[in-house]
Amino acid sequence: MLVVGLTGGISTGKSTVSAILKTHHIPIIDADVIARQVVQPHTRALRKITRAFGQDILLPDGTLDRKKLGSIVFNDEEKRKELNGIVHPAVRWRMVWEVVGCWLRGEKWCVLDVPLLIEGGLWRYVGLVVVVYCSADIQLVRLMSRDGSSREEASARLNSQMPISSKIEYAQLVIDNSGTRAELASQVSVFVHKVEQSVSTPRWLLCWLIP
Ligand code: ATP
Repeated sequence: MLVVGLTGGISTGKSTVSAILKTHHIPIIDADVIARQVVQPHTRALRKITRAFGQDILLPDGTLDRKKLGSIVFNDEEKRKELNGIVHPAVRWRMVWEVVGCWLRGEKWCVLDVPLLIEGGLWRYVGLVVVVYCSADIQLVRLMSRDGSSREEASARLNSQMPISSKIEYAQLVIDNSGTRAELASQVSVFVHKVEQSVSTPRWLLCWLIP
């Protein structure tokens, strides 16, 4: 089974590409969704977090107080490392299980939607890295309009991230989302068609066609 890693820069359009892929009935494994699931009440990761950060880190209903946790790790490198050391392995295991689930259901391919695919090193374990790109100007405008942030705030967020040009160096395929949504949808359709063709071509035939 082919596992595709989908990534990009902040507000370049990963979620939009994911949504289009869903309309093609491609299984999507979303790292952000999983990161929320693994710290739900009664999970191992949440127990480890409360052990490390104290019971005060929970809201009265037993869920994680993300705001409080965010403010603790924001200024404390050690605490951030400790938190990542709890959450990241849990997310990875859940992703592995979801990939196994896709395989058991007989899926030919699936997509891992991981914003930090390159930074976290997960790109090494996928069969194909796809980066969603748009120009820096467009990225800034889309970020400002989506989050209602000022130009300065949006620029500061963009500048704190790994540059998209560096991410592209790891990609086997770049989806250019500098145009309209319709243009993006047609690029995604072409991509889906190509992958479907490649995963349904028997390997022995590929060896014969491409000596
Ligand atoms: P993040 O990393 O912050 O989660 P993302 O990479 O998932 O962002 P999206 O949320 O898909 O990016 O897109 C960012 C914003 O740009 C959204 O408001 C989305 O609706 C808009 N957008 C995406 N693609 C286009 C497009 N081709 N034309 C116009 N707007 C777009």
